[in-house]
Amino acid sequence: MAKLGLIFHEDFSMMHSQTVPRPYLESFEDPNRLKLTIDYLDKNSILKNDDICVFKPKVAESSDLLKVHSPYLLQIVENISERGGGEVGNSSLASEDTFHLSCLAAGGAMLSSEIIVKENINFSFALIRPPGHHAGVSRAAGLCFFNNIAIAVENLRANYGFQKFLILDFDTHFGDGTSEIFYSDPSVLYISFHEYEERGFFDEIGHGAGEGLNINLPLPLGTSDDGFILAFESIFEPLAKSFNPDLMLISAGFDGHFADPVGNMNLTSRAYEIVTKKIKEMKKRAVFILEGGYSLIALPISIAAVISALIDVEFTPFDLRFAPSFPRRIEKVEVVLKEAYSFLSDYWDIF
Ligand SMILES: [Zn+2]
Repeated sequence: MAKLGLIFHEDFSMMHSQTVPRPYLESFEDPNRLKLTIDYLDKNSILKNDDICVFKPKVAESSDLLKVHSPYLLQIVENISERGGGEVGNSSLASEDTFHLSCLAAGGAMLSSEIIVKENINFSFALIRPPGHHAGVSRAAGLCFFNNIAIAVENLRANYGFQKFLILDFDTHFGDGTSEIFYSDPSVLYISFHEYEERGFFDEIGHGAGEGLNINLPLPLGTSDDGFILAFESIFEPLAKSFNPDLMLISAGFDGHFADPVGNMNLTSRAYEIVTKKIKEMKKRAVFILEGGYSLIALPISIAAVISALIDVEFTPFDLRFAPSFPRRIEKVEVVLKEAYSFLSDYWDIF
């Protein structure tokens, strides 16, 4: 049995670029993100590893997308793509192939979780784009068109009998779309670690039956590996054990890497590797779904670090040699954790 199912389609490395028009929109969400990642995995013999099985996704059907999104969003993404491109939402520019690739990304997220059931694989990683975690019910935003991870959840719920989900979002930005979609849902625990921004505070804790199940941890800018890992151990691990989901899904964004042109954190690939090993040790099935990560050097290395951890292969990423000795922000992270505990203790007796 393969240890890891990898989802990939060559269209992801060829289609849908948001890099034009320049200089008005400077975006890094382009096909090279996955072209270079696949090249890097190949050159480091990771793709050939016997413990990896590669699966090719199909486009998601409208009925799959409509489990999460409004007909309006589908129509506007499709219509603007057919027209040759244009602005769909805030910081979300479509090109002529955006509708196709967004449906393929959603299909990839669905397949990454279906193989957990059908192929009896414990871990999978969907190497897909465009990302999804900023897409809400009726809006594209932040380079995202359809919310891939939410579509995967609803597919599992409708067709495979899964009932309880935990989503960990460690992209450096708050996954406002995913949070919105599941904000009142008692069956989805959403935990987001993100750099401090104007949204995604502790008090956005969920609503109604979902109150207490939307957990935000806004981390200080410049947080480095030790602070990130401390937050993971202090918040994620106890919550995951207590909630005991049927499946963990990870919105895996790598724009917290110190070399990322968009994020403001100081993580190295080592942080992603360690967190992955800890997820693996929890002995739960877990699905990784790619979100952000825009450095064409840091993204392939970080993904390779996660995949290597999932298949128990030693991997020495070269970004560690370039990482400056960042000032420790651990005291600032500890302050944030204390504040988080004070909110969470109203809902969770583990804090
Ligand atoms: Zn991001």
